[in-house]
Amino acid sequence: MRALQYREIGAGPELVEVPTPEPGPGEVRLRVTAAGACHSDIFVMELGADDYTFGLPLTLGHEGAGVVDALGDGVTGIEVGDPVAVYGPQGCGRCPECSRGEENYCRRAAELGIAPPGLGAPGAMADHMIVRDPRFLLPLGDLDPVQNVALTDAGLTPYHAIKASTSVLGPGSTAVVIGAGGLGHVGIQVLRAITPARVVALDLSQDKLDLAREVGAHEVLLSEASAAEEIRAMTRGRGVEAVFDFVAAQPTIDLGRAVTAVGGHQVLVGVGAGTLPVGMLGAPYESSVRAPYWGSRSELYEVFELARAGLVHVETEVFSLDDAVTAYDRLTKGTLRGRAVVVP
Ligand code: NAD
Ligand code: ZN
Ligand code: ZN
Repeated sequence: MRALQYREIGAGPELVEVPTPEPGPGEVRLRVTAAGACHSDIFVMELGADDYTFGLPLTLGHEGAGVVDALGDGVTGIEVGDPVAVYGPQGCGRCPECSRGEENYCRRAAELGIAPPGLGAPGAMADHMIVRDPRFLLPLGDLDPVQNVALTDAGLTPYHAIKASTSVLGPGSTAVVIGAGGLGHVGIQVLRAITPARVVALDLSQDKLDLAREVGAHEVLLSEASAAEEIRAMTRGRGVEAVFDFVAAQPTIDLGRAVTAVGGHQVLVGVGAGTLPVGMLGAPYESSVRAPYWGSRSELYEVFELARAGLVHVETEVFSLDDAVTAYDRLTKGTLRGRAVVVP
């Protein structure tokens, strides 16, 4: 089968021929129907040899959907032919966090050597993929795999980030979204769907701001230092109840800090290299800072329900597996509208 692999530190991804994997006991093989390209893949491929911990070669793709096409020994409760999406941040299944469905915060994953597909285990940018356990497969039902595969990360991650801030996003509140790319453009829709907050979106280009407005942002601003003053003015000096930073580079973290209100949440989702000093003096009183990671299994069901209700969709640019390298080029250059989805 074909697989898009990262094979050598510093080199780009490459489409190669590899043996089609067989599912072991308890495992499920999918025929992949769609795989999303995330900026985290670029982050991973830009790491130096000392920081890279994902193994080589690495088949990319941590957003995956497919049709069940082979069952390992002992697998029950799922049928060949079922259309499914893959829950990526897989854990041990037994620790307190996993027991709550928060496998993204499994306390034993590192110790047990468990890694998400595409971020350690072989991912979805291939004709087939192996899923370790059927509990990681959510039924897609009537949801189209290509249009919805990115909900497994670009939907789930902002949903998890925003859901934990709904207590401060009541009527009359304002939320800022920094970065209206794959995650951010879904984040704007999640804010509109589950909170009454006014949404202000920031990005670097007019194209991205146009997309932000189309998907529901009330206000859009170019992401530059002067935006802080404009946001303060929009809130009559108070600042905003929550900032969702899908970049988290130093300029966006500084901007977020400058506009966070007393009691506000500054949520760092992007894996940019910025840092935020926190102390009694300097931080807005009662403010909090979070760095959430991906989302829980039950939240992924909730995201799918938002999609079914027509409240959230992913703007999708489709690429063939043969053209997947182009998808990553476009993602690196920042010229995609929404998410790039690769279809084998
Ligand atoms: P993307 O490339 O699709 O979107 C990023 C957007 O940010 C683009 O629209 C870009 O123009 C914009 N941007 C870049 N610099 C900016 C700036 N200074 N000000 C405002 N906007 C700016 O990327 P993505 O796939 O949506 O991922 C976003 C970030 O989230 C990445 O850092 C990714 O690694 C990270 N991520 C984190 C998690 C998590 O669990 N915390 C999960 C997935 C992705
Ligand atoms: Zn991701
Ligand atoms: Zn666990």
